[in-house]
Amino acid sequence: MSNDIFTNKILKGIGVSSGIAYGKVRLLERGKIPINKRSIKKEQCDKEILKLKNAIKHAVDELNAIKQTLPDDEMRKHSFIIDAHILILQDDFFINSVINTIKADNINAEWALDIVVSRFLSSFENVDDPYLKERGQDIKYIYDRLVRILVKGKSSDINNFNLSGKVIIVAHDLSPADTIQLNLNNIYGFTTDVGGRTSHTSIVARALEIPAVVGAGNISSLVKNNDTIIVDGDEGIAIINPTKDIKKEYIAKQSHLKAQRREFLKLARLKSETRDGFKMRVGANIELLAEMDIMERYGAQGVGLYRTEYIYLSKKQLPTEEDHYHIYKNLAENKAMEYITIRTLDIGGDKFVSSVKMPVEINPAMGLRAIRLCIKEVGLFKTQLKSILRASAFGPLKILIPMISGIDEVRRAKEIIKECMEELSLKRIPFNRQIKFGIMIEVPSTCMISDKLSSEVDFFSIGTNDLIQYTLAIDRGNEYVSYLYEPMHPAILKMIKQTVENAHASNTEVALCGEIAGEALYTPILVALGLDEISMNAYAIPRVKKIIRGLDHSYCKELLQEIMKNDSGKENNLLLRKEMAKMFPNDFIKCYEE
Ligand code: PEP
Ligand code: MG
Repeated sequence: MSNDIFTNKILKGIGVSSGIAYGKVRLLERGKIPINKRSIKKEQCDKEILKLKNAIKHAVDELNAIKQTLPDDEMRKHSFIIDAHILILQDDFFINSVINTIKADNINAEWALDIVVSRFLSSFENVDDPYLKERGQDIKYIYDRLVRILVKGKSSDINNFNLSGKVIIVAHDLSPADTIQLNLNNIYGFTTDVGGRTSHTSIVARALEIPAVVGAGNISSLVKNNDTIIVDGDEGIAIINPTKDIKKEYIAKQSHLKAQRREFLKLARLKSETRDGFKMRVGANIELLAEMDIMERYGAQGVGLYRTEYIYLSKKQLPTEEDHYHIYKNLAENKAMEYITIRTLDIGGDKFVSSVKMPVEINPAMGLRAIRLCIKEVGLFKTQLKSILRASAFGPLKILIPMISGIDEVRRAKEIIKECMEELSLKRIPFNRQIKFGIMIEVPSTCMISDKLSSEVDFFSIGTNDLIQYTLAIDRGNEYVSYLYEPMHPAILKMIKQTVENAHASNTEVALCGEIAGEALYTPILVALGLDEISMNAYAIPRVKKIIRGLDHSYCKELLQEIMKNDSGKENNLLLRKEMAKMFPNDFIKCYEE
């Protein structure tokens, strides 16, 4: 069947890196290698085991060679992904599982590898957590490489994959080694059949600002080289062979977005201040060191939230104090940032890491999560705290504790920090004794006792993602109740207002770092509430800054007063849309009824 029949075929996937790319397809396909399943005699087992060990060595050598060829510092930053693959290849449990299967079943190495990896993958399939699912993908990359070596003697890397002119890469999947080897200067965009927001390709695409859509069904089997394709990383769609009209529409959209981004980037360095002089700091939420360049370029004054879970995810074993320290020191030494808020481990609930053993819980969102786990596993907590303290000698780090529900947890966390300080002092290791200590306000109880909590800490950071989940009783990952997610719900507004007032009454600063911080529609309300800082995905900063600079604090306060009179989140949203469309006609579409 000719692929030419696909005109204007739209595939829906997950937009993982913002922007629109338009160009010719370059298909990166390898085809699956059929494996030969052979029963062998007992005395042949040793030969198969040797074959397996040689293949593993060969694969490690190949990956090391790829690391050596990385063209520049930008790409070298991502080589930790290759290191993770090398670690899996050298993992005793993995190697011994295959060897034992060869011996127990008397089968050849490829077959034994296939059995072991299928078993691993099926256990990964059964978890809902997207991070963990992606780690299953890592095992698959390693499997593919080993099978190629076992069957063909070498892995057909995309070494010297020549890209003539700029193209859009379409693939079933891209392994980190693939992505790293590609000359990214020649790539307009990516789209793949599989993958998620947290897959390595998505992370690299975001860090390098290349539009990308992953999980786009069977796109790699629908296109051929030189087809034209549009990748819309915001809408999460790919359009194969678009018609002239669609092409025109997207080219216009692309140039509009580019112009808008250029205009926004000009604003990135400007002060975050309303027309009548109200200042609200604008920070970035990050997960990786690789995001440092972006947050600087997009005008973050500091890091409002560094989610440290990724440090645990990118390692098979628990990260050591040195692993943590290296990362926090790097952040601390970034002179462009006025402050860096390191949130301590927040796993459990919708976040999961394999190196920490967690009990099976019926309702993990309300279970042994975040600070509750850290207080139980003090050793784990101290490793992280000591490294943050050590790195605090190099720059303005702050400590932020997630999921606090009451004052005892705050006091216990402070005691543990004090113990860490004493241990470091005994060893004469320098740290900042005045390091700022804050807590997330994301469990409703903490809003209600914010007057009491505020005298215990230096700052609050309101996590609306969880605060909305727990207040409105809506699981944040459940699509069936997502319609109930209403940041402007009167209950949420009251809670934030009360928290800010209580904090300010005892000179405690308040930040807000949930997703709503990056949604410009809500900016006037966040200004009105008098927050000291908002922190968001770095790409959202310039637009939000533009809105802040176009507002008057006095007007925002009047608007909030009006909004507080309303009964529902829907009414509030409507009123906000109406007002914003009036004030910023180029930024907000009139989508309300007069
Ligand atoms: C929040 O809950 O609002 C928050 C910022 O933290 P996370 O999304 O990591 O739970
Ligand atoms: Mg949270």
